[in-house]
Amino acid sequence: MNCKTIVIELENYLDEDLGAALRAEIEQHLEKCKKCRLIVDTTKKTIQIYCNSEPAPLPEGTRDRLHAALEKHLRRARA
Ligand SMILES: [Zn+2]
Repeated sequence: MNCKTIVIELENYLDEDLGAALRAEIEQHLEKCKKCRLIVDTTKKTIQIYCNSEPAPLPEGTRDRLHAALEKHLRRARA
């Protein structure tokens, strides 16, 4: 499990669409990795704003924008 995997799986993780094992691995990584915690927190807040705190699938455009933002985050985190 590394930061790149987190970003790839983040959408499923937040949708609670992951198996227990993968979920546990992500949570383990998040405990150790401040950068990914920040990304997850930011993404959760973004989703809450868009979805008004209701658990709902993201609209297509939002997913794309979110992915672009996450990739930017990750590149910055690595620089
Ligand atoms: Zn990480």
